[in-house]
Amino acid sequence: MADINPFESLKEQIDDAAAYVDADADVIDRLKHPERVLSTTLSVDMDDGSVERFDAYRVQFNGDRGPYKGGIRYHPNVTEDEVRALAGWMTYKCAVVDIPYGGAKGGIAFDPREYSASELERITRAFAVELRPLIGVDRDIPAPDVNTGQREMNWIKDTYETLERTTEPGVVTGKAPSSGGSAGRVEATGRSTMLTAREAFDYLGRGIEGATVAVQGYGNAGSVAAELLDEAGATVVAVSDSRGGIQAADGLDTEAVTAHKRETGVVGGFPGADRELSNEELLAADVDLLVPAALENAVDADVARDVRADVVVEAANGPLTPDADDVLTDHDVYVFPDILANAGGVTVSYFEWVQNRQRFSWTEERVNDELERIVTEAFDRLVDAYESYDVPNIRTAAYVLALERVIDAFDDAGNWP
Ligand code: GLU
Repeated sequence: MADINPFESLKEQIDDAAAYVDADADVIDRLKHPERVLSTTLSVDMDDGSVERFDAYRVQFNGDRGPYKGGIRYHPNVTEDEVRALAGWMTYKCAVVDIPYGGAKGGIAFDPREYSASELERITRAFAVELRPLIGVDRDIPAPDVNTGQREMNWIKDTYETLERTTEPGVVTGKAPSSGGSAGRVEATGRSTMLTAREAFDYLGRGIEGATVAVQGYGNAGSVAAELLDEAGATVVAVSDSRGGIQAADGLDTEAVTAHKRETGVVGGFPGADRELSNEELLAADVDLLVPAALENAVDADVARDVRADVVVEAANGPLTPDADDVLTDHDVYVFPDILANAGGVTVSYFEWVQNRQRFSWTEERVNDELERIVTEAFDRLVDAYESYDVPNIRTAAYVLALERVIDAFDDAGNWP
């Protein structure tokens, strides 16, 4: 994995797009920096009686279009700059799908696999206490991200509600259904990846049916994207996780791979595979569609030179470095960016928040229909923008569109001193 600072990548992506936006340099500069950063140390009691220290962050990047919104990640590689980048990407993601949010992100730098459930609960609640003055249903709404899910969101909601002496389920999204979570939220990120891929192949005049697919990363986003692409008629020929990958020329039974991963913790050793392959081999697989669904910087310029897919749809946040983007643009590979392709997660978070505020829940069918409408409309707007602005690639078009929407909100509201 390339050692590239994701915050520098974000700034480069904004600069690339700024050349096509009618705005002053100072306005653009503002959109490259977060409005507020919480950097804190959590001191948490461990099961053995010791006290351990954890570095934790919450970045509120931009609130021009609505409350700050974005997930919380638990990963040993979390840094303040990574969280800044992820918070910026949330801002532009919400703008691309045109939902009424700004962008934020949080993270704790640790490996949750090394801690017991009760330690994880204390770590999460300690972070929720630190977050309490910043978050709120109309201020900043956390959600799941890498290595967090319903359990952690329920703890955050419970801590907040207990301290505030209220019930406010919309203070956090991605909760379990029993705590006010939305139908369809768990699958939402992978579903938007599938919808983007389907629309992309239609746009390119090919159709998703029969397209061969490789998926790098088999966590929540990757596994759901693989299963839904399979269901849509594509042939998923290779998948991988951090420990390695598997391949089957005639297609993997993705549902069975997900069950195998659930049981064993890895995709490796899946009985239906022809052979095992490395992550590097997977990224260079001779397929129609490559779906990077793991972490940032999975594809740098060197890896990009070996990519043989014609289309890349990003399920992860920031999986391509800016240099990789340049290589793929030169090689005429169509890249459909993260800020559209994985926006299903935050879009269904938005639906969850709407349902929580109304104290009324939607059926899964309604959630999926509304998600499909939002993603396909955003896709159409994006390709219109790509064709009408003279931009080099679809990512730049997405940033132009997003920057214009954030700038409009800022201009229309004025700048409170
Ligand atoms: N963590 C997800 C993302 O990167 C979802 C954020 C949310 O639902 O607020 O888009």
